[in-house]
Amino acid sequence: MFDNLSTKLDKAFKTLKGQGSITEINVAATIKEIRRALVDADVNYKVAKDVTDKIKDEAMGRDVLTTVSPGQLMTKIVYDELTQLMGGTKEDVVLKGDPAVILLSGLQGSGKTTFAGKLATFIKKQNRTVLLVACDIYRPAAIDQLKVLGEQVGVEVYAEPENKNPVEISQNAIAYAKKNNKKVVIIDTAGRLAVDEQMMAEIEAVKRAINPSETLFVVDAMTGQDAVNTAKTFNDRLSFDGVVLTKLDGDSRGGAALSIRAVVEKPIKFISTGEKMEALDMFYPDRMAQRILGMGDVISLVERAQQQFDEDEAKRINQKIRKNQFNFDDFLSQLEQIKKMGNLKDLVGMIPGMSKAIKDVDIDDDAFKPIESIIKSMTKQERATPEILNGSRRRRLAKGSGTDIQQVNNLMKQFEDMRKVMRTMNKMSSTKGGMQQMA
Ligand code: GDP
Repeated sequence: MFDNLSTKLDKAFKTLKGQGSITEINVAATIKEIRRALVDADVNYKVAKDVTDKIKDEAMGRDVLTTVSPGQLMTKIVYDELTQLMGGTKEDVVLKGDPAVILLSGLQGSGKTTFAGKLATFIKKQNRTVLLVACDIYRPAAIDQLKVLGEQVGVEVYAEPENKNPVEISQNAIAYAKKNNKKVVIIDTAGRLAVDEQMMAEIEAVKRAINPSETLFVVDAMTGQDAVNTAKTFNDRLSFDGVVLTKLDGDSRGGAALSIRAVVEKPIKFISTGEKMEALDMFYPDRMAQRILGMGDVISLVERAQQQFDEDEAKRINQKIRKNQFNFDDFLSQLEQIKKMGNLKDLVGMIPGMSKAIKDVDIDDDAFKPIESIIKSMTKQERATPEILNGSRRRRLAKGSGTDIQQVNNLMKQFEDMRKVMRTMNKMSSTKGGMQQMA
């Protein structure tokens, strides 16, 4: 699921190159790519446009923290917006009343009956007694299917094969549950191949008569845009409380998960990812967004950076980089910031693809120690103007820091290389800016 969307979004983030901050110019192409990726994943066009507009507003003018790339920051922004788009927080099924009644609606083949079995298993695990009700008066096979499922999960199934009145069957089932001390009643209703008036009127009547504490709409995620349209039709008539997305294990492009909440303004409560009774998950918008982006680790990395990083300090350093004034004091401050974020191996492991690569590599958490000692042995003047560090000063540093001249020279070389890169970056950004202004 979502493989395509993840790959495309990843590609979009990589097109985002930037220096100090994300600007309208460097973000435009990325935003366009993100929108296209969403539409290709079957996200409703208007929803895709709204969400990318929001992403753009969020991204513009954001200072890029020194430890994360603009692409990583963008990933976090998109993650936050996708989470919001899917409702923000998890919403539970409401079980109120004695018995609490859950009414299931949806088209035939959506996975409604399978879900009824899964939900019964789920609720049974919370030590509540459950009664499943077969309320499909058109297909005797549907009643048998529910009975088989009930047996499989150890839950009693109520059915009246001769009765053709679903309102009566539901009411009788609830009375039966009361008498037999069943705390939760799950009613599986008839589904049709397409939305039709008679079916809608029938389920509406059932809902009115039994007043369930929860009405769920079950929909096959693989049907893409149709899933959203069907949800809208059902919601207009039934005003359901929550959505169950099924078949997310298939090659669904996932757009339904992203659009339904925004279009019908009802939360997704469960996702079903297989035919087995255990293949049911509660729906967490944040986890789903992470899955879509396939980059959970980058998100935690940026979050940690945002928590730990002193924005003012980051701005100050950015200024110094831009003025080609980055010195050893700044370098030391950067090292300290990185160290605050945690164990080095953990940090490197958060970069996508790296955790596997470094599994067996020993990353020494003290790797920064000699560097720090060398910098700390410098005088104030030496840190601010590294150019004065001649041979004799370097020898003094080696001695003072308990390292050797080789290590000091290496650090000087690395530092000089770093400054060279910074100078090139500064030059590039000024010429690029100039060209864009001319265009
Ligand atoms: P109903 O007509 O809405 O009651 O749908 P069913 O529960 O009979 O499901 C229709 C078909 O979809 C059956 O073959 C189920 O095994 C299958 N199915 C249901 N849920 C899932 C799911 O989450 N993943 C997959 N792959 N198949 C599912």
